Amino acid sequence: MIEQTKILIIGANGQLGTELTTALQDKYRYKQVITSDIHSPKKQDALFETLDIRDKGRLEELIEKYKFTDVYLLAAILSAKGEQNPMLTWQVNMDGLMNVLELARDGKISKVFWPSSIAVFGETTPKQQTPQETITSPTTMYGISKLAGERLCAYYANKLGVDVRSLRYPGLIGYKALPGGGTTDFAVEIYHKALESSIYHCFLRKDSILPLMYMPDAVRATIELMEADAEKISVRSSYNLAGFSCSPADIAEVIQQRIPDFKIDYQPDFRQKIADSWPNSIDDSQAKEDWGWKPQYDLQAMSDDMLSNLKRLKEKETAINLS
Ligand code: NAD
Repeated sequence: MIEQTKILIIGANGQLGTELTTALQDKYRYKQVITSDIHSPKKQDALFETLDIRDKGRLEELIEKYKFTDVYLLAAILSAKGEQNPMLTWQVNMDGLMNVLELARDGKISKVFWPSSIAVFGETTPKQQTPQETITSPTTMYGISKLAGERLCAYYANKLGVDVRSLRYPGLIGYKALPGGGTTDFAVEIYHKALESSIYHCFLRKDSILPLMYMPDAVRATIELMEADAEKISVRSSYNLAGFSCSPADIAEVIQQRIPDFKIDYQPDFRQKIADSWPNSIDDSQAKEDWGWKPQYDLQAMSDDMLSNLKRLKEKETAINLS
């Protein structure tokens, strides 16, 4: 029942959380969606609570206060940042998930969403149209934590009856918030640089093909999965999910068709090795079959939307600064 739903978003200030919060607030009544993060948001919000997801006591306190039905656990340390601090990555990504799953097992939450990632795959995984069930051999602490998390989700769902649902997102691209330290951050930064008329120094090789997805598709997939009938969900670890696949050079070319003097050069760093271990494309037929998943954005449509929205936001910012 939509009126009885009470949502907690954990890690709400991040790249995905910023957009998912707006979508859920549009769908439900404003008061039904409480946001939380380890840091306070830039804009004051009465429905925001500070929460470090490693602190189970504080999480319990919030559940007691608001009586949440659904929890979206987005808080995580991402792939590139994770390699700078592997221990923190393990603690945030794993302790956080365990805290939420345990409270769901105790019956204090009805439904959990927790995102996994294409980072669960590794060098020995088939690279083209990577299947739902295949070799998972992650090389980063982020990928290792996501793979362990997937197995925990399947365990809590199948053995303990917890309604936890998950998607293996590809690299996410959006204009509303900056990315938080992943290997596909280049795919957001490139559009910002294109509108600043400066050169973009890409940290991956020009021909590194990766699976990517525009944020409106990712947000819609998340909400559709959470709304699907439980009996339709045959995968309780995490669903493969695909938007489109392309390289930095493909994105640069599409931008240059719209902004001819945009320039890019390539200076691969440690993130290249991470990108090389990930798939080129993903087979998401199980998600399509089970709950009707269908992406709407390809590279061209995403680029048009990214550039027009970023331009609008930059003009608004300039107008505010001048007034
Ligand atoms: P992000 O880094 O932009 O945001 C993560 C948020 O978590 C931040 O606001 C951060 O302050 C918060 N956080 C960090 N430590 C915390 C803690 N201890 N307690 C509470 N909050 C804490 O990440 P994102 O891109 O929004 O990713 C959201 C989720 O989606 C993550 O689980 C990530 O692994 C997954 N994912 C993202 C991508 C992508 O391309 N962005 C791809 C695959 C999977």
